[in-house]
Amino acid sequence: MPSIKSVETVVVQLPTRREHKWAGLTEVIGRYVLVKMTDTDGRVGWGEAPALKDWGGEFGRYYGESAKIVKTVIETYLAPAVIGVDLGNIAELHKRMDAVIRGYPYSKAAVEFGAYDLTGRWLNVPVHVLLGGKSRDRVAVTHSIGLIPVEEARVEAAKLADEGIRTIKVKIGVDPERDVKMVRAVREAAGAQMDICVDANEGYRTPGEAVQTYRRFEDCRIKYFEQPVMGIERISEVARRIDAPVMADESAWNGHDSIQIIAQGQVQIVSIYTTKAGGLYKAMEVGAICRAAGIICNVNGSIETGVGNLANVQLAAAAPAATLSCVIPVSVPAEAQTGQIGGIYYKDDLLVAPMRVEDGAIVVPDGPGMGIDVDLDKIRKYQIEL
Ligand SMILES: [Mg+2]
Repeated sequence: MPSIKSVETVVVQLPTRREHKWAGLTEVIGRYVLVKMTDTDGRVGWGEAPALKDWGGEFGRYYGESAKIVKTVIETYLAPAVIGVDLGNIAELHKRMDAVIRGYPYSKAAVEFGAYDLTGRWLNVPVHVLLGGKSRDRVAVTHSIGLIPVEEARVEAAKLADEGIRTIKVKIGVDPERDVKMVRAVREAAGAQMDICVDANEGYRTPGEAVQTYRRFEDCRIKYFEQPVMGIERISEVARRIDAPVMADESAWNGHDSIQIIAQGQVQIVSIYTTKAGGLYKAMEVGAICRAAGIICNVNGSIETGVGNLANVQLAAAAPAATLSCVIPVSVPAEAQTGQIGGIYYKDDLLVAPMRVEDGAIVVPDGPGMGIDVDLDKIRKYQIEL
């Protein structure tokens, strides 16, 4: 039985297509830590921690992880703990990681993706097979419009509709006046057919402010209102008072959070990440808990590079509860870019081939492991020292 032989980290910085920000973000996207994992047969698997130090749970629950923190946690604690674990034994991998250090789900997720990638390559199956099989062949893409000027968003929204994108997420939670203008502009530019959701990233100060602001753009037909304020009880209050379903994101990291959200009986949607839960194995558990409660889900993330994004696509393919379109990038290397902007956040990417998009949806890759090979030259090109 092959086992894990070595775990190394590589920090990269991808060039962005345009600035992408949300309420509370203080870092640039795309400066992330890759994990290169080798097995005793010489195969290589890859993972990624799209860690952001200002991305955490509510009221001090969970902490942000920066690239520097991830590198230290992996090199000092996780790598020595997982060496020798048999390929395919993801349960043992998590047991060892959780025993050696508490928390740090992004660091653990990156290591776990490497182990899944290796296992898939060893067995010659895609990772979604290891997660229980494909619930869907294509993953519809929600394009995220960050905190950019309203006029810029108008141009982008009009273009997205032409490209076949069916759902736009608009970042709000900054200032009610600006937010109302922004949602209106996007609705006007994108047309009546587009699904529009809004994400406040906990930005409103009170549930009342969130409800009042929502009422002002309610006529724009909002598919869901994501994380209006901080706190499970407080988003539940917003959910009780508005018609659009509320989605929990910052409030929903792991299975236990999901149980607490379900117990409040108000939130109707949970956003699953491969990272918040600490890897695919635990993200599938979040999906299973939600499914049992009738909560629907999407897969959402932190604008990963292609390496981490492949894990998003594998999760979105496998998790039965992830029926909504997903805020995951369309990872396309520079040579394959065509001027399309739907789901494109970077000027280049780290994969040898682009993700295939049909009708506004990513076709789930069927290659072994994470599905598409990593481009080693690109990794060298974008590698940085911290
Ligand atoms: Mg969100």
